Amino acid sequence: MPTLSFASDSFFFPTFVSPGCAPAGGLPWLLAEHRDLICPPWLLRGWRGEGRSGRKAWPAPLLMALVLLRWSENLPRETAIRRASTDLGWRAAMGLPADVKVPSDRTVRDFERFLCARHPDISVHRYVLFHAHIVRLCLGHRVVGDDAIWGVDSTPMWCFGACIDTVRLMGTGLRHLARLWAKATGQTFADVAERWNAAFLLAPSTKGGFDIDWKDREQRAKIVDTLARIVVRIVDDVRRRVGDIRRRFRKRALLLCRSLVGIVSNDLETDDDGRLVIARKVTGGRLVSFTDRQARNGVKSKSKRFKGFKLSLVGDLVSGLIASVAVTPGNQHDQDAILPLVARATALVDGIDELLGDSAYGFAEKRERVRRQYGITLVSPPSDAAPPTADDRLTKHDFDIDFDADTATCPAGVETDDKVWRTSGGRHVPAFVWPRDVCDACPLRAKCLKGKRRTQVLHLHPHERALRESRELWEQAATKRKYRRRGEFERLVGRMVQLGGRRAKAWGIGFARFQAHGIAAINNLGLLAARLAQGVAANV
Ligand code: SF4
Repeated sequence: MPTLSFASDSFFFPTFVSPGCAPAGGLPWLLAEHRDLICPPWLLRGWRGEGRSGRKAWPAPLLMALVLLRWSENLPRETAIRRASTDLGWRAAMGLPADVKVPSDRTVRDFERFLCARHPDISVHRYVLFHAHIVRLCLGHRVVGDDAIWGVDSTPMWCFGACIDTVRLMGTGLRHLARLWAKATGQTFADVAERWNAAFLLAPSTKGGFDIDWKDREQRAKIVDTLARIVVRIVDDVRRRVGDIRRRFRKRALLLCRSLVGIVSNDLETDDDGRLVIARKVTGGRLVSFTDRQARNGVKSKSKRFKGFKLSLVGDLVSGLIASVAVTPGNQHDQDAILPLVARATALVDGIDELLGDSAYGFAEKRERVRRQYGITLVSPPSDAAPPTADDRLTKHDFDIDFDADTATCPAGVETDDKVWRTSGGRHVPAFVWPRDVCDACPLRAKCLKGKRRTQVLHLHPHERALRESRELWEQAATKRKYRRRGEFERLVGRMVQLGGRRAKAWGIGFARFQAHGIAAINNLGLLAARLAQGVAANV
């Protein structure tokens, strides 16, 4: 399949028709002037047009330009295609003459799928490679100066699928299963609903299928219990008979059964009367949408809750460059994304020594791993340090520990090397013990020992050394001065949100990752365009 080609010296070329259609410093200008640099052939290898036969294919850089323009304005695909047919600036960016029709919706959708796929040579998603390519271009053109201040932060990203309550989740799950079962067994949906003794499935909505007052707590509780038992009965039946249906339906049927069982076990609990009721507890794996199964409940702060994913990023708050992004389920802690984020950022950028982060990144274990693996100091308030006591009791921080000599000294000046071991988080960690007779005679014992204890046992954190070092670092005025600039990082997060990072535009965490890398690349392309336009202005 050969590729379509368009001459840039055509009478119909946008910059000939309207020379000022793509002003310098904007994304259309950058693409019009440097499209081949932005969309290198190695990245787009594998797109149509590499063979010799078949219809002519749209060139990949043209489609890439259209996708980037779409992302930059946060437009739906059809709107972006309509805009491309009328906007000369966009046509200049794509290298498309004014008299040529634009690619179809299907072609653009196929190209976006192509970007989502892994590159055949390196087995990494093309959108990740594209983002990394743009970061390298920005670094090559000195978008990031010597005064860079690197930071890490996260923001909620709502999922695309409808977030529904437990009753609707069970109803929707059963409807999906009934539809699949009808297809797999050659029956109608109504037949399956009747055989399963679940007539409510035929109603337009789950709640509409039960003739009760949903504001009445007692009636509602009764229906939750009934529905949960119907789910358990049907799942049990389907699992026993799954061997009878065609092989291609089996996997999906079992997957739906697993999701339904997950809803019952995560969202419900048994009350004192033996009824299944909505659980008043926090469960990490709770499903929030039947169409977006990787989305989870997330908490940004005490009052801010969301359903979906968490978008984390590492960037330079001086230049605004975003070096790496990650999307994780909403229930994952911020610190879980730090290692892959830092790995990607350090693979692209040299000289990141410090990373500013809020207290979510202040846990000793991750802090220590980032320091050991990548040589980066996380500048953030220590999160797992012992809290100060309300009265004047002595705390763990009043005891000195010499990690090299393996000894500890208490506030009374008594040194000990006597240790016992305990298990914490699957690791053996030591605890220093002071002699009982010394503690008995100590004037500080009332402040030091709790309750009826006769001797002090100082339990150490699995990463006690890193914890103490981070506390010491945090107490320094220079660290606090540096940390004051962390608030500026909100500007970068705000930019991601402005470009459409607050909500996923399609189902699944895979697409959310594609979207996050896309908008991070758009942010970086804006910086590159401004930088190259400065060079053009200086030459003029
Ligand atoms: S009670 Fe024991 S451990 Fe505590 S300060 Fe006195 S001697 Fe030290």
